[in-house]
Amino acid sequence: MKKFNVPIDYRSPLVSAIKNKRKQNDKLKKDFTPSLLDFGNVQIYLARHFGFCYGVENAIEISFKTVEDNPGKKIYLLSEMIHNPLVNNDLKKRGVDFLMDTKGNMIVPFSKLSAGDIVIVPAFGTTLQIEAQLKSIGIEIEKYDTTCPFVEKVWNRAEAIAKNNYSIVVHGKPQHEETRATFSHSAQNSPTVIVTDMTETIELAKFIKREKSVKDFYIEFAGKFSEGFNVEKDLQRIGVVNQTTMLASDTQAIADYLKNVMIEKYHLTENNIEERFADTRDTLCYATYENQSAVYGLLDTEADLAIVVGGYNSSNTSHLVELCEEKFPTYFIKSADEILNSKEIKHFNLHKKSIMDTISFLPEKKPVKILLTSGASCPDAVVEAVIRKLSSFFKGSKPIEDVMKEFV
Ligand code: SF4
Repeated sequence: MKKFNVPIDYRSPLVSAIKNKRKQNDKLKKDFTPSLLDFGNVQIYLARHFGFCYGVENAIEISFKTVEDNPGKKIYLLSEMIHNPLVNNDLKKRGVDFLMDTKGNMIVPFSKLSAGDIVIVPAFGTTLQIEAQLKSIGIEIEKYDTTCPFVEKVWNRAEAIAKNNYSIVVHGKPQHEETRATFSHSAQNSPTVIVTDMTETIELAKFIKREKSVKDFYIEFAGKFSEGFNVEKDLQRIGVVNQTTMLASDTQAIADYLKNVMIEKYHLTENNIEERFADTRDTLCYATYENQSAVYGLLDTEADLAIVVGGYNSSNTSHLVELCEEKFPTYFIKSADEILNSKEIKHFNLHKKSIMDTISFLPEKKPVKILLTSGASCPDAVVEAVIRKLSSFFKGSKPIEDVMKEFV
């Protein structure tokens, strides 16, 4: 895979050594068991795959290079480039302003932009409407477009399904930049509706089966269907695509459920299901697949707790947290600073959407076994800082340099 030029501060010699060693020993990436960092009194199990993905490194390289190559020019990012506060703040410190927040609310009105300004499109891509607005101002967005190729692949898949006269069901978070962009691209080719989860999918299926009144669709799915969506006609042939960072098992379950609904409603079989349901495999990206598979590998380990590092608004990171929570006390932190001391940790509660303090997060036993991973937008240097901090709490721990020797 292409190597990108990202600021050295984001890299970690420790993590790079571990990743390289694992790659050498497992070129086909079939082994999802974690790497053990054995400090003695604390054992840290590091996921086989975690951290910056292709799309994030590409976006970081383009953004920092754009700043370097254009001194004196006004540079904007359409919204957060990736969902990581450290990286976004670094760009802000270099004079880059954000035009919108992550929900699409304007921070700087487009009326303040002029043709000579630079606008960087983030890795999630953007909507056709925003693209058109920026182009009408004279901004050359294609020059600074960091849209991830794996997101574009979803748009292409939706287009291919649309060409065969299927409507599109997008499994994604309606407020997420990527899903808004995918929805916009899909809606230009085919009637499109978004479902967030299985609960919404079951409700959508009731409209397919004509168990609910047509008018309820427009209330229940308000803001989630394309203009002119005809619920009676447009749910007769469907295909599913998804936001690249959803939970793989959720997307699979949603696609299987809708497929069965079509089989029952139209008395079909596996042989002729394509009459009503486009046979698409999920459109998760490789990084989501690898990072989630690596968490399943972590969960097979006997441990006391799990720590997941990443931006609180990062979709891919939050799914890693959900997986870990199924088995272990799990702490979702954005940096090592949130581990306040050996007793107290500040962490994000996904379900309450609030920051919590937990006391005595480390058990009184030896060795303490900790699972550790991070999202696709989290620099490895942040993970190394977490490892250093955790190991510092255990007197008599092996120095990190000794632990590293095994991986060099
Ligand atoms: S998570 Fe996947 S789709 Fe998103 S930026 Fe990374 S590689 Fe691209």
